[in-house]
Amino acid sequence: MMRYVLGLFLTACALLASCSGLSAAEPLYQTYRATADKLIGAALEDTGGYEKLAFLCDRIGNRLCGSSALDRAIQWAAAQMKKDGLENVVTPAVKVPHWVRGRESASIMEPVQRQLHLLGLGGSVATPKEGITAEIVVVGNFDELERFGRPAVEGKIVVYNVPFVNYGQTVQYRSHGASRAAKLGALAALVRSVTPVSLQATHTGSMNYDADAPKIPTAAISIEDATLIQRLVSAGNKVVVHLAMEAQTLPDADSANVIGEIPGREKPEELVVIGGHIDSWDVGEGAQDDGSGCITALEAAALIKQLGLKPRRTIRVVLWTNEENGLAGGKAYREWIGSNLAHHTAAVEMDGGAEKPVGFGFSAKGDNSREDASIARLQEIGKLLERIGAGEIRRGGGGADISPLTSEGIPSLSLQTVGVRYFDWHHTEADTMDKVRLEDLRLNIAAMAVMTYILADMPETLTTVEGAQ
Ligand SMILES: [Zn+2]
Repeated sequence: MMRYVLGLFLTACALLASCSGLSAAEPLYQTYRATADKLIGAALEDTGGYEKLAFLCDRIGNRLCGSSALDRAIQWAAAQMKKDGLENVVTPAVKVPHWVRGRESASIMEPVQRQLHLLGLGGSVATPKEGITAEIVVVGNFDELERFGRPAVEGKIVVYNVPFVNYGQTVQYRSHGASRAAKLGALAALVRSVTPVSLQATHTGSMNYDADAPKIPTAAISIEDATLIQRLVSAGNKVVVHLAMEAQTLPDADSANVIGEIPGREKPEELVVIGGHIDSWDVGEGAQDDGSGCITALEAAALIKQLGLKPRRTIRVVLWTNEENGLAGGKAYREWIGSNLAHHTAAVEMDGGAEKPVGFGFSAKGDNSREDASIARLQEIGKLLERIGAGEIRRGGGGADISPLTSEGIPSLSLQTVGVRYFDWHHTEADTMDKVRLEDLRLNIAAMAVMTYILADMPETLTTVEGAQ
């Protein structure tokens, strides 16, 4: 009897709720379960994403700004968007830095003769034509460099033998090592590659010169070579290295962002932006960084289109140029949208490789209660991704290309993976197609498709959400 009365009561409540429109508060995982399952099913059988990534990597190759390969990649991506049925495909022009590596080499001259594994850092100046031959000073961090001071550093080549802690912490030696050494009179700086693991791979990446420091040449060396030099010095040897680099910075080159859309059915002016960066370093194939992010976004949109899904708002895929050495693409996109910024309801960037996805990171600028409410909503979407292990929602998300949007208050997400191997391959000759596993790429496409579709279709946006039920 009690059960019967309770049953009647619940039925009455349900009727009341649907009549009064309260059904809009139905959790997103209920509203979208069937659609999410369809998208996941399609992604787990998808072959288009892998084929597109293989074409980008194997047929076009690495794509540093200023290279003809990047131009080809941009044209190919725009054509591919049209083939996939995206609309309003455009490639707005962006001026980008144009750095070229040229020939480069380094060897230990004393106390043994040994060729070093070397890769110049993006933005570095050249050595004089005859190269630089100088004694080495090895340091383990900036404090040690300062303790050595000018008397020990002047006229020498500084080697930063800094073990990898995490990317954000260790990359400062790549970014600022040259100028910090130059201020003490160093002639050049060699930086142990920013990576936890090395099989004699060298990792390039961008570096910056301080305005108040002389510009000295700088390059990465392998972990093996950095530790060899360390052992020689620790054993009391005077170590002399010869370094020769032809690197130069040419006048800015022409490039472009690649943009395509699935227009919204009800609020086409409102947008969810997803994407990655189309440029890469000039080594390897830019497969994980960031071919995988570009193709994941592109294929997620292609699947939404193929399944005939029409989101309430517009889904815009953007492949940004020049993430690696200048961020001109991300800045140009911000300028290009102008006051249309206000219509961006969310931005999702994938730039951490396509290992097995675990979920999404999220950042919002503004009051904490709104952030909490947004996270609660995202966790509802995350529930739909639990079956593929990609449902976690973490605080802290976004990406370099969407950072101009994040800083102006656009809710920002990043697709996050287990991230076990990414920094082993990052910015090296080894960032090639074989590092991307088909199964993992499919899972990333599934996660991106589900998150993007629901963000673009749910009744409220992350900026208007008032509290989760
Ligand atoms: Zn990247």
